[in-house]
Amino acid sequence: MPDTILRAEHLKKVFTSGKKSFTAVEDVSFTLERGECLGIVGESGSGKSTIARMITRLIETTEGSVSLLGKDITNIKGKELRAVYREMQMVFQMPMESFDPRRTLGDGIGESLRNAGMSRRDTKIKTEELLEMCGLTPEFAARYPHEVSGGQCQRAAIARALAVNPSILICDEATSALDVTVQKQVLELLINLKEKKNLSFLLICHDLALVQAFCDKVLVLCRGKVVEQGTPDDIINHPKEEYTKILVDSVL
Ligand code: ADP
Ligand code: MG
Repeated sequence: MPDTILRAEHLKKVFTSGKKSFTAVEDVSFTLERGECLGIVGESGSGKSTIARMITRLIETTEGSVSLLGKDITNIKGKELRAVYREMQMVFQMPMESFDPRRTLGDGIGESLRNAGMSRRDTKIKTEELLEMCGLTPEFAARYPHEVSGGQCQRAAIARALAVNPSILICDEATSALDVTVQKQVLELLINLKEKKNLSFLLICHDLALVQAFCDKVLVLCRGKVVEQGTPDDIINHPKEEYTKILVDSVL
């Protein structure tokens, strides 16, 4: 039996403002097994971030359901939602989004550790351990987000996400804002973590080379709907749908 950790069923999101409504995501279903990496690809505006934000409860889901380790989390709030964030963490496109600009990176990571129940005394050493795991020296704990590069800030954001020892890491274009060489370094860090920590990943990106290197299976999204799914080899080398062919040709 596969160990399903996350299950999304028939997700739908309708954004409304005044009398206008817009369906950004429709009938999206998938499962994520333990230790697996699922890629979601699609053009800009195809609904990738909306899916991530519904799963992490940053926005309400219009229809459909999300379950984490067999528990329905579609509409949970408060204390129950905080428990979900112990299992599922998100890394954003803009690394600065993970930190308060007025507080040091170490404070941010420490806050996550204490939310996960760690004593103040153990926090400092664990913060340094997490920074090191993400390729940063202990001195980075004292730096403010604006005092480090984008790549360094993203490493610290990953360290912060790992502080709660989650089962799932959702990366929403986590390397898109970085320079190409730094992208590769952060990707190597993620691959390393996947192998070492039995983490499951939801990797949202429009870079098919990244998908090829990292994902076990892929969903192709077009205007909010899944048009094709399969292994990276299916999607990249044997695409069935015209849209996938165009997507592959445009980026590879
Ligand atoms: P992607 O991450 O694939 O680039 P998004 O999920 O951000 O796409 O957006 C999907 C569609 O939903 C886009 O057309 C976007 O304009 C629209 N959208 C996203 N957020 C909102 C919102 N809060 N209100 C209205 N429309 C939105
Ligand atoms: Mg997006």
